[in-house]
Amino acid sequence: MFSLRLNKDPGNLWKRYGIALVIILAFLLSSHMIESNALAKAERDAQVIDTSGKQRMLSLQIILRAQDYVSYSHPAVAEKLYDTIDEFEQSHFKLMEDAAQEASLGHLYLSRTPSTHEMVQNYIAIAREIPTNDYPHAVFAELREKGSGEVLERLDEAAMAFERRVQRQAQWAQQLQHLTLLIAAAVILLEAWLIFFPAHLLVDKTLKDLRSNAETDALTRLRNRAGFDLDIEAAMQAREEEDSALTLILFDLDDFKGINDRHGHMTGDAVLRRIGHRVARLKNILSAGRVGGDEFAILVDNKQWNADAHLADIAADITTARDIIYRPINYQGRVIQVSGSVGVSRYPVDAENLADLRRNASASLLDAKRSGRGSLSVYNNRIDEAVLRRRTIQSSLLSREYQNTLAVHFQPIVQPEGQVIKSVEVLARWHHETLGPVNPMEFLSIGRECGLGQEIEYQIRSMALDQMGPALRQGWIESVSLNVSPVDLAASDFADALLKQIAEYNIPFSQVWVEITETERLSSMAIAHQNLQTLCLAGVRIALDDYGVGYSNIHRLAKLPIHRVKVDKSIVEHVGDNKKYAGVFRSSVQLARALGAEVVAEGVETQEQLTEIQRFGCKYVQGYFYYKPMPAAECLEIIRGQVSSVA
Ligand code: C2E
Ligand code: CA
Ligand code: CA
Repeated sequence: MFSLRLNKDPGNLWKRYGIALVIILAFLLSSHMIESNALAKAERDAQVIDTSGKQRMLSLQIILRAQDYVSYSHPAVAEKLYDTIDEFEQSHFKLMEDAAQEASLGHLYLSRTPSTHEMVQNYIAIAREIPTNDYPHAVFAELREKGSGEVLERLDEAAMAFERRVQRQAQWAQQLQHLTLLIAAAVILLEAWLIFFPAHLLVDKTLKDLRSNAETDALTRLRNRAGFDLDIEAAMQAREEEDSALTLILFDLDDFKGINDRHGHMTGDAVLRRIGHRVARLKNILSAGRVGGDEFAILVDNKQWNADAHLADIAADITTARDIIYRPINYQGRVIQVSGSVGVSRYPVDAENLADLRRNASASLLDAKRSGRGSLSVYNNRIDEAVLRRRTIQSSLLSREYQNTLAVHFQPIVQPEGQVIKSVEVLARWHHETLGPVNPMEFLSIGRECGLGQEIEYQIRSMALDQMGPALRQGWIESVSLNVSPVDLAASDFADALLKQIAEYNIPFSQVWVEITETERLSSMAIAHQNLQTLCLAGVRIALDDYGVGYSNIHRLAKLPIHRVKVDKSIVEHVGDNKKYAGVFRSSVQLARALGAEVVAEGVETQEQLTEIQRFGCKYVQGYFYYKPMPAAECLEIIRGQVSSVA
């Protein structure tokens, strides 16, 4: 039996088609040759049969003319007789020529007995003798006997034998024709079986593979965005008949970039694969996909998740799924902690089509991300408003509309002893035309997403250095403190650009502080580290901002050049009423001392808080208790008042 083997090499396919073509051509050629051969032979045979018929007729004519001559002895009759004899002789020679061909009529005729030729020659000689003979009667009897006897007899015999042979040949040709038809059918079937059918299977498989590859994520083998969308659409169509609800759930890893930075891209890929595996194994899902770099998605039939469109029910299942997906990952002896946010949107409750469903799920995911690590957010109208607000901010930033409305405020950092303003922190302010005041964290993070982070921060610093420049140069205040985002710090030219900018305002580097946050990310980034070292060498001092809520790890802190620790207001606000927070604050002061840094308590609002932090040895305060952030003019007035009162 033939076996069907599929070879994936398309070159092989061409070979197969080539072989099929050659077989077909060879077959056509040989059948054409056989046919034209048979045709030529049939034509020749027809001619010879014709000649032999003519010979028969001429032989009879010779006898008739000879008889005429015998009766009338007219010279004109003799003439005719000779003409006929000549003709007879000519056609005899034609038959002789034909006799050279094997299996021809002439051959049959002349080779029946070797003497046929002599016999015919003899006959011709006798016929020619008649007009020359004085008494032709005697010769005529002999002629008649020879002509209508021997010659015709032999011609007839040969013709009959030839006919029989031609008949046999015709039969054989017919059989051959049947045979060739049979072989042709067999060859075609064989080609179909061995070449065209496998080729068809191969093409079919290749097409299927191509289609499925276009819809599959190469890394995780889950559906990619295109494939996942197709599944959502198919499910939506099916749901229309069944009238049940679907839920789209998006999972997005927190700080995947950090995982890549810390552990390398191989590990990053392994993390994605492992998470993909977990997503694929979730029970009762309609489809699972990797729909972005570190974003995964599942589609759920609410009935299968016991949800009946009630959010409370499905939320429990989603939380379970999230806990499965974000379990720590063991990879090559390391444990990698993963966390992530979850965004949820339902069909048809929250959205009536694919585009809306996706958009709402993404908006919920964004909302969850903003709420902090590991949050879960289900789509609601509030999220729509948030999306709209983001877009408004984005377009104002991108159109550079912000440049005229951006401002800076200054909040003094106070030494409670003697109430001296030691320094001021620069805080960005933006009053949007329609949205009103926009929180700096909000517009700066949107700005960074649009790639405008550095540009906006540059403008903030320019305004701050410009407005505080005189007070600094005259020594009315010791220093100014600038907030710097981790993203900016990761740019290789950041330190040089900042030093250049400070120098442009003629302010000594030693009068500038840079406030940084999220040390976990910073210490793993060689460029950030390098930037801090460069600034530090130039005389700029570094403050660790938001201490107590970030990811500061003591080992990492020790590696960074830190001169000030700013304890976050979320800790400061409880120092008076919660022993645990008081303990955290005290240990922060101790840590700062160990690092050789000073401590600033942020967000001090009450006398009680002030008393407590002073009790723990904190010497600097920033908070509403003393001053709120204010415009430069107001701040400078306060500073001037302080200077003149000292003087
Ligand atoms: P931050 O650096 O921790 O700044 C201190 C924040 O605490 C300021 O909020 C300030 O107004 C507020 N604050 C100070 N004292 C008190 C108090 O007694 N009570 C309360 N409730 N709040 C107090 P603000 O101005 O809204 O800024 C928020 C954050 O935005 C800043 O936190 C900082 O991370 C960021 N930011 C502000 N301006 C800039 C900037 O120019 N560049 C960068 N990269 N970030 C900035
Ligand atoms: Ca700050
Ligand atoms: Ca802070």
